[in-house]
Amino acid sequence: MKTKRTHPKPRRMPREGWTVAEVIDLLTLGEPPGTCDRCGRDDLRFIHLLDHRAWPESIVTGKCCAQRLTTDYDPTAEHALVLRARRRDRFPDLERWDISARGNPWIKYRGATVTVFPKEEGYACCVALDDDRTYRHGFKTVRDAKLAAFDALVDMLE
Ligand SMILES: [Zn+2]
Repeated sequence: MKTKRTHPKPRRMPREGWTVAEVIDLLTLGEPPGTCDRCGRDDLRFIHLLDHRAWPESIVTGKCCAQRLTTDYDPTAEHALVLRARRRDRFPDLERWDISARGNPWIKYRGATVTVFPKEEGYACCVALDDDRTYRHGFKTVRDAKLAAFDALVDMLE
């Protein structure tokens, strides 16, 4: 007689006691919107990675579900990311952008001088902050180069 093997019952995801490991802005990383592992909402720009000691892997949630699954939800990380994303989204369109004598867009921003210029098939950017200079290249549009400059500058300031 064959013994029927019983599959272990899938354990249920804990409903509390999670901690936020990381908050990520998917749009800034060029990633598609994320899906919440708790409620299934699938248009998340800012995802929370949650860990639980009794669960083998991290789960992805939006802010509301992160608040429900954690005990002391700290809004600071998401808030900082939202503010940074807002500044980043606005950066390419700031009215302070000027055009240099060579015809390249440039701006003074948070103590740095940012310049965008054509390079090979696309565009490059240079961020000069005190004695520090960062170059990034390979961007299809001026806007992409400006966004990359913003990210480079934030890295330099941190
Ligand atoms: Zn959710």
